[in-house]
Amino acid sequence: MSKIFSICNQKGGVGKTTTSVNLSAALTLNNKRVLLIDMDPQGNATMGSGISKYDLDYSLADVLLGNSNDIKEVICKAEEGFELIPANQALTFAEVKLLDIKNRELVLKKAIKKIESDYDFIIIDCPPSLNILTVNALAVSDSVIIPTQCEYYALEGLTALLETIDKIKISVNESLKIGGILRTMYDPRNNLAQDVSDELENHFGKNVLKTVIPRNVSLAEAPSHGSSIIDYDRASKGSMSYLALAGEIVKISK
Ligand code: ATP
Ligand code: MG
Repeated sequence: MSKIFSICNQKGGVGKTTTSVNLSAALTLNNKRVLLIDMDPQGNATMGSGISKYDLDYSLADVLLGNSNDIKEVICKAEEGFELIPANQALTFAEVKLLDIKNRELVLKKAIKKIESDYDFIIIDCPPSLNILTVNALAVSDSVIIPTQCEYYALEGLTALLETIDKIKISVNESLKIGGILRTMYDPRNNLAQDVSDELENHFGKNVLKTVIPRNVSLAEAPSHGSSIIDYDRASKGSMSYLALAGEIVKISK
């Protein structure tokens, strides 16, 4: 059975896309069959997987609006070996259209039902907002991973997100779990980062993933080459940390 993870935080720039692409690549390296779904009209996960968002015959928008007869014609192969449902600006239009559809929270769930069993892991890169696209991602997921920077405002945003997750559990997906809060862009020399990290552990306990993603320049450079960190700089601390994260995710998925 496939395990579906949403990478979600309504706060922008916290490392959702970096985590989605590199976790997908790291799981692939562990011989897992992986599908990455780009659920963000910015199309960053698409570009970061080496696929041009400007050059798509079909994208996630076509899947959600039923414009494509066969979802398989939308799926691309990233060089890293995982498969991708790409996205671009067309998804903004789809988001508006979705609001007119009955059972609009469950459109993605219905659309990918046929192909779910082709994969061990499905990773969904969510947009930085709690909109209907994010609700669709959460409605189909087994677990949510919440990338969080160890900053002063981190806890405040988390409370709103956890409330949304509770609402989704009550309304459309009672089995949704918190896969974990993932500390990203961590700089151990920064005292505030250490304090916030401790506070996250005290407050959320086991819901905080053990793996910590360090601030690492190679992680910021890799997307401009359309590569994952594993292809771009395998020996980097960033690469090691995402390989460790893949190990932790495989473990908690058993
Ligand atoms: P958005 O909310 O816009 O979708 P996001 O949460 O997906 O953003 P990313 O795009 O993954 O965040 O990361 C934001 C920026 O920080 C990017 O420029 C990315 O390359 C950089 N970045 C992410 N993680 C790290 C890291 N661990 N070390 C250094 N830079 C990082
Ligand atoms: Mg992103």
